[in-house]
Amino acid sequence: MKAIRKFTVRAVLPEPLAALEELAGNLRWSWHEPTRELFAHIAPEIWREVGHDPIALLGEVEPARLSELAADGGYVDWVSHQRDELRAYLEQPRWYQSLDGTAPGTIAYFSPEFGIAAALPQYSGGLGILAGDHLKSASDLGVPLVGVGLFYRAGYFSQAISPDGWQLESYPVLDPDGLPLAILRRPDGSPVQVTLALPDDRTLHARVWQAAVGRVRLLLLDTDIPDNGDELRLVTDRLYGGGGEHRLLQELLLGVGGVRAVKAWAELAGASEPEVFHTNEGHAGFLGLERIADLIGDGLSFAEALEVVRAGTVFTTHTPVAAGIDRFEASLVERYFSADLLPGVAAADVLALGAETSADGAGVFNMAYMGLRLGRHANGVSKLHGEVSRAMFRDLWPGFDVEEVPITSITNGVHAPTWTDSALRSLARAQLGGSDTTAADWNSAQLGDDELWSVRNDMRRQLVLDARERTTKAWQKQNPGGIAPGWMGEILDPAVLTIGFARRVPTYKRLTLMLHDQERLRGLLLHPTRPVQIVIAGKSHPADDEGKRLIQQLVRFAAEPEVRERIVFLPDYDIAMAQLLYPGTDVWLNNPLRPLEACGTSGMKAALNGVLNLSILDGWWSEYFDGENGWAIPSADSAGDAAERDKLEAESLYDLIEHQIVPRFYERDHDGLPVRWLQSIRHTLATLSPELSADRMVREYVQRMYRPAGDAEALLSANHYEAARALAAWKARVVAAWPGVSVAHVESGGVTAVPQVGDELHLRAHVNLGSLVPDDVAVEVVYGRSHNGDDLREVEIRELEPSAEAAASEGKPVLFTGTVELARAGGFGYTVRVVPKNALLAGSAEMGLIAVAS
Ligand SMILES: *Cc1c(COP(=O)(O)O)cnc(C)c1O
Repeated sequence: MKAIRKFTVRAVLPEPLAALEELAGNLRWSWHEPTRELFAHIAPEIWREVGHDPIALLGEVEPARLSELAADGGYVDWVSHQRDELRAYLEQPRWYQSLDGTAPGTIAYFSPEFGIAAALPQYSGGLGILAGDHLKSASDLGVPLVGVGLFYRAGYFSQAISPDGWQLESYPVLDPDGLPLAILRRPDGSPVQVTLALPDDRTLHARVWQAAVGRVRLLLLDTDIPDNGDELRLVTDRLYGGGGEHRLLQELLLGVGGVRAVKAWAELAGASEPEVFHTNEGHAGFLGLERIADLIGDGLSFAEALEVVRAGTVFTTHTPVAAGIDRFEASLVERYFSADLLPGVAAADVLALGAETSADGAGVFNMAYMGLRLGRHANGVSKLHGEVSRAMFRDLWPGFDVEEVPITSITNGVHAPTWTDSALRSLARAQLGGSDTTAADWNSAQLGDDELWSVRNDMRRQLVLDARERTTKAWQKQNPGGIAPGWMGEILDPAVLTIGFARRVPTYKRLTLMLHDQERLRGLLLHPTRPVQIVIAGKSHPADDEGKRLIQQLVRFAAEPEVRERIVFLPDYDIAMAQLLYPGTDVWLNNPLRPLEACGTSGMKAALNGVLNLSILDGWWSEYFDGENGWAIPSADSAGDAAERDKLEAESLYDLIEHQIVPRFYERDHDGLPVRWLQSIRHTLATLSPELSADRMVREYVQRMYRPAGDAEALLSANHYEAARALAAWKARVVAAWPGVSVAHVESGGVTAVPQVGDELHLRAHVNLGSLVPDDVAVEVVYGRSHNGDDLREVEIRELEPSAEAAASEGKPVLFTGTVELARAGGFGYTVRVVPKNALLAGSAEMGLIAVAS
């Protein structure tokens, strides 16, 4: 990356337009249509060329044009009106300010990537865009969040496709001065620097960029500064670039350096230090260790500090794919934590947090395991993914039923103002009143079918024109000076049923499933009266040749002269493309191998625009498909092998398109309107938009994670960590005593010879407590329906009471008694178990200790 260093000279704005600088400096413009219109008005052509980027626009526009606008009273008023509107947005109370009771004063949200706008390319895909949407909705709701990430000099890569269909990567170097970023400085103007002590007496330095995302601050750490030697400058060179040590350095910087940066920021901004820390996937997990080190500095032991940190940490897991989890060599992690990085923290304690439980996990440091051990509030990102995660990580809570594994789920959402096309928003405003498409009554008769269809047609046409332009430009880039073949200006048809498919290209997403039977696909594409067209995009990880081969297969198929006007692959999938692509399709296709798609968000963005989903019942679709909002591709999970499964699922895909989707799309009334299709669109918009919005998601995080985490952290920290110390001491005592805990035997009575509904089952459990006392444990009867096999269903748990003589029975089994009513007919089963009990625990599974009657 020793290429030419470029820099950006910012325009000097005429005085009357000075407020444009303030507006350009807050990324709210990326989702606030009136502010975008204000910038577009300056020079619509340039606005388009620079990809809707206000800072780039101001750098390109002729000074004469700015002078002209400065003399235009109407424009100057418009600018100051928008500036006032922004200030009001930043200051006025919003949803969070109306909450009753305690709520955290500051929440730090850590993520390795943030996708906020095309103009700030610091993301690779879904995880980053979700993080961007999280910040935007937090801003809209007034949630006091601060984002923490890294500033990558080259972001993710830019994709081109070679003439033979192979993905080519390039890494355009970003100039932060041309981006909506400012260095975090002290009042005397000196930049804040974060430092990390590394092995061999090296030190990693980072400066901190800040971006304003509406009301939310985003801090991005950057190592490309002269204080670092050449090698360390490259730590933040690119997103997910290297493996091993490079990646570990990035994650140490994000976690450990991120906490240091956020504290410096809080002090300078007059904000409270974060009480709650949320780590978006495991990459930022080291943040917990930095906080532990801090608390050890305050006089706590490692175990006591761990309790405080766990109480205030939220961990979101995003992947059911093992390859998606960061794993390092334990020896490498040990080397870094044996240096002076975190004084007071022993490397052995760190290694224990990342240790894998399985035999083949020896020597491996697993970031997801550490995330779960450092955060007592954990979740997956859809209901199904919650289930899958509980099964995937159940080894951390051995002995418990999979349902009891303390990982819940909060289904992802997408930021509606970012992802709803402005044409649809205008329609909602004009016809339904109100600007919020997620709350509009899409079934209202106020909105005519013809108007809705006309907007859908406009959005499709917009995509077709964009696809033609992109295809032509990509060709010209590879053939400088040449004239692009005429057919490139004719690809796709604005009236044809359009299917979209865009995503990263890991194998499980099955980019090429649609190519399974090429003859059948050709038949669909080339149908004389009711054709289908397909628009595809996606990047493969640079190190993933298998993904690149899939892209190549697709590109080669799409290059066949017969079909090339009906199926196109658009290079360089990014936010800007996505914003036209989703609204422009009629059907959004998703065909992962179930259950490997944790949630999937592109289909949500499509649905917000009235697009119908055609998807495997995976991720969000398995909980929201209702028979009217699209189509479910049946999963052939039980097929003998992968090839058989692909075949069956591909055939279902073709069948659905041919027999259900095509006929419904082309079925028109005498006005040419696809009435049934429009019903599905209305139904989709009315029922899914509120559910799929990131506002719903962020509210859930606030209520179900951030507030409980804030409360737990406050409880354990009060009186100089009194409760944390007590909890750590109690846990140590219980862990030591647990080998002596067992259920000696259980007697039952009360049920008649032929048990009937209404009978009461009386239980007497004799329990060995070793050195524990009855108050340290809960003895529980776990009961439910029993079918064939061992598992109980519809499980309920009731605690048994220690009998009066319990206290006196030292050394002997203690009697616990209780009653269960047989409320339902059918198979009944129960078991008795002992678990630790303490009001300061998050739940009975927290410690992973259990003793079950044999
Ligand atoms: C939404 C989005 C994604 C993620 O989509 P998935 O359906 O989760 O794969 C990836 N890239 C871009 C540009 C997006 O906008």
